[in-house]
Amino acid sequence: MAQSNFSVRFWGVRGSYAVSHRGALKYGGNTSCVEVIAGKHQIIFDAGTGIIGLGKELVKNDESPISLNLFLSHTHHDHLSGFYFFDPLFDKRNRINIFGPGSGKRSLAETLRVAMEPALFPIGLDRLDAKKSIWSLLGREGIELRDNRQAPRITKAVSHRDNNNQHPIILSHSSPAHPNGVILYRVFFQGKSLVYATDLEETPGGNPDVIEFARDADLLIHDAQYLESEYTSAANPRKGWGHSTVESATVVAKKAGVKRLVLFHHEPTHDDGCIDQILKLARQRFTSTTAAAEGMVISL
Ligand SMILES: [Zn+2]
Ligand SMILES: [Zn+2]
Repeated sequence: MAQSNFSVRFWGVRGSYAVSHRGALKYGGNTSCVEVIAGKHQIIFDAGTGIIGLGKELVKNDESPISLNLFLSHTHHDHLSGFYFFDPLFDKRNRINIFGPGSGKRSLAETLRVAMEPALFPIGLDRLDAKKSIWSLLGREGIELRDNRQAPRITKAVSHRDNNNQHPIILSHSSPAHPNGVILYRVFFQGKSLVYATDLEETPGGNPDVIEFARDADLLIHDAQYLESEYTSAANPRKGWGHSTVESATVVAKKAGVKRLVLFHHEPTHDDGCIDQILKLARQRFTSTTAAAEGMVISL
């Protein structure tokens, strides 16, 4: 299928850990990875196990050099465990910009280095031969991607609702609503925009800053890991774990006035039948809702 010049493809939609069983064939079992094509720019959100398949697809025809931009929401394992197996990182002809939060005094580059230290992984960060630029974000930047050989231009975050450039602009927004914090992203391109908001716990009525950040977006990809009944269960409440309920994702979508909502970061113990039910429930609250599934493509 021909893709429009602003489109999204889901490579990994699962939260917390990857699953592989017959009950996960419809929605998929890989952890977070979302690919966005904006004109000639390639943007990837998160490096969960879903990024492994994307990497294989990218190198399939050996059309190096590849230039791409990887944005990490945060560096918890489920968002990083495909990073070391992402084939384009192993080819010195490729150019890869990596953006994500620093953690306290530690830069993003240092976190990646630690994640690949000998006790944790057999090869180190320096063995990934691609030309890498690693940017630690505070979560209040505007990042303009430019021609593939030019460094991105990073400024303070201001709205780019009217961005009609040939280059996308990505806003970052830091939220404390996840253990150790998380960064949300919004891509503006040719008058349209999408928001990537995963690993985020909404308060009742939705977090005001998230609603504002997502205001009038064409597409909102939002954490929807739990059902309200799981979130508030007496035996094992998930409150404070840093994830949203399906119900609260629909509240945010409605209040922010987005055109379309995609439920994301599916709970690994939910099988396909359960996610079907969740989607039905979500559509009663916000009609224009889809559940993310591996391989799903949305054109904006
Ligand atoms: Zn996660
Ligand atoms: Zn997390």
